[in-house]
Amino acid sequence: MKQLPEARLYIDGALRSAEGGKTYDNICPWTAEVAGQAADASAADVEAAIAAARRAFDETDWSRQHAQRHELVTNYMALLRANRDRLMEIARIEAGAAVGAACRAHVDFALNGGDDLVECFSAIQWEEDRGRREDNGVLSDRIVIHEPLGVVAAITPWNVPLYVNIGKVIAAFLAGCTVVLKPAPDTPLMGSVMGELAVEAGFPPGVFNVVTSAHPSMAGEMLVDDPRVDVISFTGSTAVGKRIMERGAATLKRIFLELGGKSAKIILDDAPDFSIKCMMSMAIFHAGQGCALPTRLLVPRSRYPEAVEALQMSYGGFASRWGDYDDPENIMGPVISQRQLERVMGYIELGQQEGARLIAGGKTAPDKGTGYFIEPTCFVDVTNDMRIAQEEIFGPVLVVIPFEDDEDAIRIANDSSYGLGGGVISGDRDRAMHVARNVRAGAISVNDGMSITGDLPFGGFKGSGMGREWGREGIEEFLDLKAVAVGVS
Ligand code: NAD
Repeated sequence: MKQLPEARLYIDGALRSAEGGKTYDNICPWTAEVAGQAADASAADVEAAIAAARRAFDETDWSRQHAQRHELVTNYMALLRANRDRLMEIARIEAGAAVGAACRAHVDFALNGGDDLVECFSAIQWEEDRGRREDNGVLSDRIVIHEPLGVVAAITPWNVPLYVNIGKVIAAFLAGCTVVLKPAPDTPLMGSVMGELAVEAGFPPGVFNVVTSAHPSMAGEMLVDDPRVDVISFTGSTAVGKRIMERGAATLKRIFLELGGKSAKIILDDAPDFSIKCMMSMAIFHAGQGCALPTRLLVPRSRYPEAVEALQMSYGGFASRWGDYDDPENIMGPVISQRQLERVMGYIELGQQEGARLIAGGKTAPDKGTGYFIEPTCFVDVTNDMRIAQEEIFGPVLVVIPFEDDEDAIRIANDSSYGLGGGVISGDRDRAMHVARNVRAGAISVNDGMSITGDLPFGGFKGSGMGREWGREGIEEFLDLKAVAVGVS
């Protein structure tokens, strides 16, 4: 496997090593071998990044120069796009993306989404005229000003790092905030390369900072605790999200959380091409490491045998179509790490203990290479109270649950602590829309529609988080409101 360049820190306009030159190994999930080194930030490095972001926000006109900022961010997105091949390579080697997945969610969706945000900028209303009004005998002309919230700490996960990094930092820049990006320890280079390209784009020092760190929580907790940071925009697990809310209370942080999911795809009994729709529902994209992937498949009991047969066929035929580093058609490679492999295998074991029936996969796949490969896995005869139906596995594991009628399908879909994504398929659009309106989740696909795009708000209900990213709403998330009234004599 090709070696990656060192992931360096980007602090106050300069790319540099960590204090004392400390680094850690960047492990490639395809081989479980070292694919490069990453700067291992110290507390002093994180401190320097926070100080730089604060200074850039308080002492420069970054937050007020809307047009110049928009132009710089537009050029920055063009520069990212010009580096698409490099970004693809990083997604493949560092995040373990198969080529087909790297082309989609990892890089192209991320670049298209960033461009969408740049477009959405024109919809932002920086000042609203709220008219003249008399109150208690005082006549006032009133305006509401939308102002950036300040210093944003973007704390991101490893599964689709470029996509999540762009969703946060481009929106925060467009709003006029300054940013400290803290990528996940497993995917440092995808953060660092954004710093490198910011140098090339000519970002003012301090506006953008990137700190990579081997420690899972040290840098993140410093960002959450520091009173100079105004906003935490976090994507990751629900457990860490809760911890961030608790800790963030001490400094009354604005906290936006994009957390886990256990999304349900509901195939109704009148779905056209019912068997094909079932076959297309395998939870395999990027080895199931997607927060909004539908990992619970709900099928009507009246057509349950057909659904199981279709899934058996699709999983059976898939064995040779994944886990190949070079095959452009592959959308599934390894999981990210040994830790993740053990976690997913633990759930597969649990599913069998809980009485679910394994119809595909269930084992690691050492024949695919020395990395962290798990077979595409499907459990049927699952009941929604099983832990494999309730907990996020974040691996290539689909659970299939039968339902009685539409209301039962809605009930099962909603019987979850999560509410991130989901889907419904039916020959009757009104019937599908009834289901879509009643499932409590932030993004619902009807008849395979694309509910997750860069110009639409994305985020979770319930335990899947709070706040919205992407689209106009994703930029507005980083804005505060100021009411100004001018007395008229
Ligand atoms: P994680 O919660 O372990 O880590 C996410 C980030 O938080 C990392 O950068 C990590 O270093 C940092 N972190 C860890 N502990 C911290 C602490 N105490 N304080 C501050 N920061 C801390 O998640 P992960 O394993 O990297 O990613 C997988 C999870 O992310 C899954 O649960 C998945 O559903 C979720 N996810 C959600 C979305 C979404 O948009 N809703 C998107 C992608 C991934």
